[in-house]
Amino acid sequence: MTEKVVIIGSGPAGWAAAIYTARANLEPVVVEGEGTQENWDLGRPPLGQLATTTEVENYPGFPAGDLTAYMDDAIDASTRKYMAPHQKEGVSGPELMELQKQQAKNFGTRIISADVTEADLSQRPFKMKLSNGDEIVAETIIVATGARANYLGLESEKTFRNMGVSACAVCDGALPRFRDKPLVVVGGGDSAMEESDYLAKYASKVYIVHRRDEFRASKIMAERAINNPKIEVKWNSQIDEVLGDNENGVTGVRIRSTSDDSQTEELDASGYFAAIGHTPNTDFLDGQLKTDEKGYLVWTEHFRTNTSVEAVFAAGDCADSNYRQAITAAGTGCMAALDAERWLSAQGLH
Ligand code: NAP
Repeated sequence: MTEKVVIIGSGPAGWAAAIYTARANLEPVVVEGEGTQENWDLGRPPLGQLATTTEVENYPGFPAGDLTAYMDDAIDASTRKYMAPHQKEGVSGPELMELQKQQAKNFGTRIISADVTEADLSQRPFKMKLSNGDEIVAETIIVATGARANYLGLESEKTFRNMGVSACAVCDGALPRFRDKPLVVVGGGDSAMEESDYLAKYASKVYIVHRRDEFRASKIMAERAINNPKIEVKWNSQIDEVLGDNENGVTGVRIRSTSDDSQTEELDASGYFAAIGHTPNTDFLDGQLKTDEKGYLVWTEHFRTNTSVEAVFAAGDCADSNYRQAITAAGTGCMAALDAERWLSAQGLH
C-alpha cells in the first residue's frame, strides 16, 4: 500500500502537519520515533525536545492558570501516565505534545512508534525502512525530525546528565538544585548569552566558558551578558572535565586555557549547561536532500517547504537553525501539510 503522506517526526512540526493533512482526508501516517534509551540519551525522543522540558509559557493559547479540568477532558487517559502533574503556571512541554498528538489522532492520524532508518528518495513513490523491520511507501514525505542539542562529548557530561548537566537553561534553570548556586555555561553564541542571562536570575553567579577571546553572539546579547554583574566570562578556555559525585551530581568544572595548555582552573558549580549549538536529525537521509553547511535541510523555494527532492517537504527545527521555537515549528508543519496537499492535488493523487 502506498501512503499519500508520511510524516517523520513527532514534535510540534510533525503534529501540526498531521492535523492539517488528516483534516484534508490524506490519512497521514506519523512515524513518531522509538522511545529507546539511545534516542533519549541523544536528545531526540518521541514528541521531540518538548518532551524533555517543563513549563511552556510562550506557546500561544496556553496561558498560566489551572488547566486541570481542560487537560482531563482533552487528553486520552492512556497517555496521562507519562505526564507531569498539572502546574498552575500553565502547560508543560510533554502535556503540550500529548495534546497535539491527541488532536492529530482525533482526525484519524495513524502512528508508528519506530525510527526511519533508511529512505530511498531516488524515485517515487518513496520507500522507507523502519527500525521495527517494516517498510513504508509514500507519495509525499514531510520531514519533521527536529534537532538535538550538542554536547562536547565528555564522558563526565554523560555521567551527570540530569544530575546538573543540561543543554537547556530555559527548561531546567529554575530547578532547586540550580538556585542560588554558581553555574557554568559553555559556548559563545546567542544561545550561551541568552541562557546565561536567564540563569543569572536564579543563580548566585554564572560563568561563561568560551574557547576564544570574542563572542560569536550578536553585539546586543553579548553586551547584555558581559554587563551583567552576576556573569563572569572565562575567555580562551575549554571545559576539561565536569566534576561531581554520585550523591551531589555536578559540583564544578575544570577548565583549561586554550592559549596555554598547562593552565587549568577549577570552578565550583552545581550546574553545567552546554550551549554549543544543535545538530539537525537528518543523518538518516544520507545526503539525499540539500542541506546547509550545518546539516539543516534547505527550502528550495522562498517561503515554501519544498526540499531539493520533489514531493519531499521539510518543517520544524530540522530545517531551521535560527528561530527554533515550538510555535515556528508548528507553523512550518502546517505549511508543509498544505504544500503536500497541493502537490498531491496537482498530480491528481488527491
Ligand atoms: P552558534 O551560533 O553556532 O554558537 C555556538 C557556540 O558554541 C560558538 O560560540 C562556538 O564557539 C561554541 N562551540 C561550538 N562547538 C564547541 C566546542 N566543541 N567547544 C567549545 N565551544 C564550542 O549556536 P547558538 O548559539 O545555539 O545559535 C544558533 C542560532 O540561533 C544562531 O543563528 C543564533 O543567532 C540563533 N539564536 C538566536 C537567539 C535570539 O536572537 N534570541 C537566541 C539563541 C539562538 P566559536 O564561536 O569559537 O565557534
